[in-house]
Amino acid sequence: MTTTAARAEVVIDLHAIRHNLALLAARAAESGASTMAIVKADGYGHGALPVARAAVEAGASWLGTCSLGEAIELRRAGISARLFSWLDTPEADFASGIAERVDLSVSSLGELARIAEAARRVGERARVHLKIDTGLSRNGCASAEWPALVEAAASESGVDVVAVWSHLACADEPGHPSIDAQAKRFQSAYDVAREAGLDPLRHIANSAATLTRPDLHFDLVRPGIAMYGLNPVPDSEDLHPAMSFRSAVVLVKRISAGESVSYGHTWTAERDTNLALVPVGYADGVPRALSGRMNVLLGGKVRPVVGRVCMDQLIVDLGDDEPLVGTEVVLFGSGSDGEPTAREWADKLGTIDYEIVTSMYRPRVRRRYVGETR
Ligand SMILES: *Cc1c(COP(=O)(O)O)cnc(C)c1O
Repeated sequence: MTTTAARAEVVIDLHAIRHNLALLAARAAESGASTMAIVKADGYGHGALPVARAAVEAGASWLGTCSLGEAIELRRAGISARLFSWLDTPEADFASGIAERVDLSVSSLGELARIAEAARRVGERARVHLKIDTGLSRNGCASAEWPALVEAAASESGVDVVAVWSHLACADEPGHPSIDAQAKRFQSAYDVAREAGLDPLRHIANSAATLTRPDLHFDLVRPGIAMYGLNPVPDSEDLHPAMSFRSAVVLVKRISAGESVSYGHTWTAERDTNLALVPVGYADGVPRALSGRMNVLLGGKVRPVVGRVCMDQLIVDLGDDEPLVGTEVVLFGSGSDGEPTAREWADKLGTIDYEIVTSMYRPRVRRRYVGETR
């Protein structure tokens, strides 16, 4: 890693990841459940491999990815925990996944056939988790087709049915009636599997359900966002946001009252003032839609970004302060020093903090890890 100061840097605190995962795993353990840390989308933009290692250190015995490629990369990088991948195209390399002992999700008879065929080629049984659609209407087997899928899987010599699983639509709205409705359908789907002679694990809980619905922990919980320190439910968990987004001042200058700033001259100085130029823009993950609506932490103070956010740079109003070139600028972080949080960005933009952190993987933004244990 280069030692020159980064113009744009995402700092990932692995202490925070371990702290958060340990908290979630302790909740799961109270119900006798194990924890699958979700590291899809390159660990929600935090880096799948370092997060996976930290999660395993803190108590995760499983890791979950969306695609087989992500899981195989983790295995080949030396991760020995159980791996689960749940959304692949028909062309996916199931044979490599089976050879690398990645558990696979099955939502349809077609998927079951493709995986069983790959298993025969590899000469091993594939470990599969049958997915029931309990009401999200996204991935998963429709209720009407479930008995046939279960029967086929139970009698298929190429696969071992490890689990029955599903995903919740509204777990982040505790008390939403869909949660109990999905739980009920999940129970029925499990009963069908038991009647077919299977004894599968069960898993349905994401972060929100891990925190609020211990009755839905079953054998395994699948937290993602909460491990990264972002709280999906309106309560006061002791979660620490792991990601901060930083840059540094490259130029300070004074402008006179009446001068305007950045493209379109959307902001005009009402008095003589100092400006700081910060070399990050929308190509680095600062949404242009936050122009005129965002603050940064610079030199110990929260200060407004003025004028439009450009592709490569933005401008901060300093008043009469005169920080040195090189002074750190925090665009978002944990909020503990008063800096904005990813949640605040998301609220202003009408989105969720998941989207903010996940979009921070960019070629021009350096990633730096703190709290590594090796
Ligand atoms: C993303 C995802 C999770 C984790 O959800 P969070 O809300 O981030 O905890 C769990 N299971 C599945 C199937 C997912 O796609």
